[in-house]
Amino acid sequence: MLVRVLHGILALALVAFSTTSLAAKISAEDYQRVVNEAYRMFKDVDEGANADYIPILATVPSNLFGVAIVTRDGEVYAAGELDYEFSIQSVSKPFTASLIMQQQGPRTLREKIGVEPTGLPFNSKIAVEIYEERSVNPMVNAGAIAAVSLVEADSEKERWKQVLGNIEDYAGRDLKVLEDVYDSEYETAWGNRAIANLLFNYGRLYSEPEQALRVYTRQCSIGINTLDLAMMGATLANEGINPKTGKRVLAKEHIPELLAIMATAGFYDESGEWMYRAGLPAKTGVGGGIIAVVPGKFAIATFSPPLNPAGNSVRGLRAIGHIAAELGVGLYGPNAGE
Ligand code: GLN
Repeated sequence: MLVRVLHGILALALVAFSTTSLAAKISAEDYQRVVNEAYRMFKDVDEGANADYIPILATVPSNLFGVAIVTRDGEVYAAGELDYEFSIQSVSKPFTASLIMQQQGPRTLREKIGVEPTGLPFNSKIAVEIYEERSVNPMVNAGAIAAVSLVEADSEKERWKQVLGNIEDYAGRDLKVLEDVYDSEYETAWGNRAIANLLFNYGRLYSEPEQALRVYTRQCSIGINTLDLAMMGATLANEGINPKTGKRVLAKEHIPELLAIMATAGFYDESGEWMYRAGLPAKTGVGGGIIAVVPGKFAIATFSPPLNPAGNSVRGLRAIGHIAAELGVGLYGPNAGE
């Protein structure tokens, strides 16, 4: 009996010890150390290539590399290239999905767009044909074009104003479109135009297709830097309130649904591999940006243009995997990060 009691006390003590160490606050030194480490370890990685199907993206210097953490209290830890403005591209997608949730609720998002991962590349037209939801989920091009078309607006100008305003609220500052990126993408947007028309054909686009295509392309051409991305992610980590401005951008109760879509589809057909590596909801873009969110704690953002074949930044995904592993913040327990 006594042995049993002692055993019980020991077990309780162990649980208490492990919960305290899990809950232990990560120190400023640790945040800065892992950011510096990730920058140093991966800055010379020479794999992948800039996106070139949007011609101007091929001209962005491939060696640029920035790594940043912003905590839910707005503390910033960063290394490398922090000021260079690149196009947000698909990192914009969860934020416009958030606008739809904020305006119309998560149910509309699920019913009018969808929430299943496609297991197919981000610009897949086959996904539109084979899945009954057509747009499938807001992290791929089809779902993101559908999201833009769902924004409540009477005119294209109003639609754009809302899309931009929402992303500015997440970043906590005024942002501009990189017009040369917009021109380069819009002039070559035949695939996305096909997707918009297909969705419209199936009754799954909610505005005139060319208008949705233009607003979507402008959204993808918004210029941001590494710190902006980290602040946007930190707003999600801070339950929908921007830590810099104090403005609420998304209702707290919608954060879990948004992060769930990022976890299952944020890396497109590489989302399984990503969750295996880092265990964090995240979103990537072909401009080279990535945001990952540690719910309730902080966000990690990276910028590095060379992409792997799935369209995800090679240095970025390694850097975030390393940081997540070092800090032991994977959602399902500490991941190996490799
Ligand atoms: N604007 C890009 C496109 O539509 C976004 C794709 C991406 O970042 N994965 O192709």
